[in-house]
Amino acid sequence: MTSGPQHRRETVAIAAGRPARVSGAPFNEPITLASALHADGPTGYARDGLRSWAALEAAVGALDGGHAVSFSSGLAACAAVLAQVQIGGTVVAARTIYMGVRQMLEEAENTGRLVTRWVDLTDTDAVADAMPGADLLWIEAPQNPLMALADVPALAASASTAGVPVAVDATLASPMLLRPLEHGATWSIHSATKYLGGHADLLLGVVVTADPATAEPLDHHRHLHGATPGALETYLALRGIRTLPLRIQRAQENALELAARLAAHPEIERVRYCGLPADPGHQRMRAFMDGPGGVLAIEPTGGAERAEALCHATELFTHATSFGGVESTLERRKRWSEESDEVPPALVRVNVGCEHVEDLWDDLAHALQRSRTAPSGRRSATRGARASGR
Ligand SMILES: *Cc1c(COP(=O)(O)O)cnc(C)c1O
Repeated sequence: MTSGPQHRRETVAIAAGRPARVSGAPFNEPITLASALHADGPTGYARDGLRSWAALEAAVGALDGGHAVSFSSGLAACAAVLAQVQIGGTVVAARTIYMGVRQMLEEAENTGRLVTRWVDLTDTDAVADAMPGADLLWIEAPQNPLMALADVPALAASASTAGVPVAVDATLASPMLLRPLEHGATWSIHSATKYLGGHADLLLGVVVTADPATAEPLDHHRHLHGATPGALETYLALRGIRTLPLRIQRAQENALELAARLAAHPEIERVRYCGLPADPGHQRMRAFMDGPGGVLAIEPTGGAERAEALCHATELFTHATSFGGVESTLERRKRWSEESDEVPPALVRVNVGCEHVEDLWDDLAHALQRSRTAPSGRRSATRGARASGR
């Protein structure tokens, strides 16, 4: 069963990436646990590709409008795209993006592999000024964890004028809300660890390209560098995609409600969420996204200590990193020592899941109350943070 272009995305998520309809055969691509396969077939060794990857890639490609290549993690997917820039090339990027990618760019600069022109991606004119002579524009939309939103179509248009290819990490949106290839991006990137998988039980990444010729060197990179996905992970991610539209819809409804209530709460200084009409990214979100998604950032009164206490005071929200799962989570981003200096110390990223919104609100409201007086339980907010945060 395949999914045609006539189908709506909610249907594509369920119908794409299925094996042929053969009587008595399963209608989900089975998990193939194999390294070596019988000779003389299309694949002789698992690093060349497995059918479980192909099923996932068919579904993500159909959702995102291109040809998908899956990787062992989101970061492996990002690294494969950065590897497309020749040695000594110039990347235009922001410092407040996913911190793993920022660290990769910084290391590439330190080792002389790449040069980065750091810009504020929300400043469309400044990005255009930085473009001449560049080899890659790296966009993240929405931007993690400040929840800022660059004008993706305008940036892609000015990159196209300058002849600069564009990569868009759309992990925070998922293909349900933003499809970068529709706006002229060369590479659309998703950490499938987040919304595509959706259950906090796997690591996986995907790059989608409009042109199959652009997907080919990514496939080659994956093969040569061993950045291959696991069969169980691709199976689980595809299973997650079946409910992606439902999960995103519920998470977003919950996030819209919680954002409005938090914005009206006297002990919340700021809510960053492009679903709020007063948010700087709101008009952009309405112009080129299908919704604001389920992640927001808040800054409670009382600074970093209060924010940390808040994260330890919830009972339903889990104090943990990452986002995109059905389980609501929250964390103070600056607990990671390598998080960008542009991120306020009290900023708490809130991943709104699919629980009942009133239970989520009760939990947050009580945690805000408790954290007002209670000690955080941690003497040093940053102590204990590993050197490799998410
Ligand atoms: C999580 C994340 C990544 C990295 O993905 P992993 O699957 O954790 O390797 C890259 N970009 C963004 C925006 C992310 O949120």
